[in-house]
Amino acid sequence: MPELTNTFSWSRSRDHTFQECRRRYFYQYYGSWGGWEPNAPEQTRRLYVLKQLSSRQQWAGRVVHDAVEMALRTIAEGHELPQEAFIQDVVERMRQDWRNSKARGYWDNPKTAALFEHEYALDVKPEVWQALSRHVVTCVRTFFRLPLLAEIRRTPLEHWLIEYSSKAFEFDGTAIWVAPDFGFRNVDDRLVLVDWKTGASDPEATAFQLGCYALYAHEVLKQSPAEVDLLEANLRDGLVTDVHWDDDRLDAIRERIRFSIRSMKAYLGEPESNIAVVDNFERAEDLRLCRWCNYRAVCRPEL
Ligand code: SF4
Repeated sequence: MPELTNTFSWSRSRDHTFQECRRRYFYQYYGSWGGWEPNAPEQTRRLYVLKQLSSRQQWAGRVVHDAVEMALRTIAEGHELPQEAFIQDVVERMRQDWRNSKARGYWDNPKTAALFEHEYALDVKPEVWQALSRHVVTCVRTFFRLPLLAEIRRTPLEHWLIEYSSKAFEFDGTAIWVAPDFGFRNVDDRLVLVDWKTGASDPEATAFQLGCYALYAHEVLKQSPAEVDLLEANLRDGLVTDVHWDDDRLDAIRERIRFSIRSMKAYLGEPESNIAVVDNFERAEDLRLCRWCNYRAVCRPEL
């Protein structure tokens, strides 16, 4: 297998990490690089394992996204989808993941479930975990009841656009990782791109995310904003919001991404070869960020 190279790329989550804490950004995209190798230096391996940690809310969100993806895949393959059995299966897999994480199995297998709450031994009451499980069940049930799902099911398969994994496209010479959760062409021959949400909506973050989808539609699918419906489908309450986009707003997204890329590169010791030096990345001043940071044990062990 050819050796992997840490080349510079951009994504929304990368931008978010960079905005929150420069030091965390360093750990996430540089310090942990190569930590999957069995003979990685101890600190690199540690950062790599810590990188995998999710809060329980993030974990629940991922469980729902995986369940939705699996349900759509099953429908696409023409199989029956008994809802209650499917939901029970989701809950059972959650239980297994929780047990593995509690046993901190992720230190041996970093790609298995790794919960921040377990790594940092937070006192989370059983009823909180039970509420999380009920939240996941609610979201999956809501998904099955969505009129949007009924519309998707009526749509011929050849009009589905399934992006099961994120794909990169080139923008101003930088690889950009953006892909909608799901897409299809509706009866009016409009492109519909969907973002599944499982928590409270943050209008500013959602607008940026859907703006990135609009850019994806433009750059990859060659569709102008006027030809695309951008939907935020909240699976917690079943609300589907159509977010309007236009060429001016798309330009604003382009500018925002360009600015983000320039800012990130300004921190690099050698931008051409994407080499970063830890001391250039300052630590956050707001210690509230550190309390919930995966890298707390390395960066601010006194907390
Ligand atoms: S512990 Fe605080 S300063 Fe360190 S990486 Fe995390 S957020 Fe940044």
